[in-house]
Amino acid sequence: MSRRRMIYEGKAKILYEGPEPGTLIQYFKDDATAFNAQKKGTISGKGVLNNRISEHIFTLLGAIGIPTHFVRRLNMREQLIRQVEIVPIEVVVRNVAAGTLSQRLGIEEGTQLPRTIIEYYYKDDALGDPMIADEHIACFGWASQEEMNDIADMAIRINDFLCGLFAGIGIRLVDFKLEFGRLWENDYSRVILADEISPDGCRLWDMSSGEKLDKDRFRRDLGGEAEAYQEVARRLGLLKEGDANMVLDLDSHRKMRGK
Ligand code: UDP
Repeated sequence: MSRRRMIYEGKAKILYEGPEPGTLIQYFKDDATAFNAQKKGTISGKGVLNNRISEHIFTLLGAIGIPTHFVRRLNMREQLIRQVEIVPIEVVVRNVAAGTLSQRLGIEEGTQLPRTIIEYYYKDDALGDPMIADEHIACFGWASQEEMNDIADMAIRINDFLCGLFAGIGIRLVDFKLEFGRLWENDYSRVILADEISPDGCRLWDMSSGEKLDKDRFRRDLGGEAEAYQEVARRLGLLKEGDANMVLDLDSHRKMRGK
């Protein structure tokens, strides 16, 4: 396992060379960062839960015709994915005002937006992922107009689907971030959903209590991060009652054995 070639190490995930050409292994870490990595920590068991949550969501999206990079789960922290060329744009979809939207525009957190907003950010840690407009994307050639049309269409469909999925388990989908990648087939490429969808990149609020079930617990020092991620997994049907600790114990046991 240690002899595998590492392709890239990000803040919450590591990519390794996959078993066959055109594939990669995506490994989910427990590391958490916020505010462009100025705040660092770990959320115990996060990687195990995000691996499962993202698999579940990508599989459901695949079933409604959204192409994704997910191939199959390999083990508790790893999934096999298709290798793509990441489009250097973070796509944020917002249904409710929160986070930077509230800060920049002075709109109270929790305000339902009269219509869904899609925002784009340029993926560049050194620049702090600045917000950009379609004009910048076209001007600097980060994606073609056709790719941006496909990305916006998929973002809206994903949002519609996820709003319903989470509403069904008593969770309000406030906002979330998506990343897309180009899949090359000979000289032709198409964009597919990449990265992950998990409480790391979504704001998920309990519908009755308003409790935050996402990375804001870490960003805002609210505590109970691991429990919040477990609660999302449990409501999605990925953990049975009382299963969470067992899953996390199994994982630490595995780590102790150096597997
Ligand atoms: N988000 C993310 N990665 C980023 C920036 C934002 O996953 O680098 C997600 C974040 O979790 C939230 C949504 O995108 O669900 C909107 O984030 P916002 O712009 O409010 O920024 P934040 O307050 O998270 O810095």
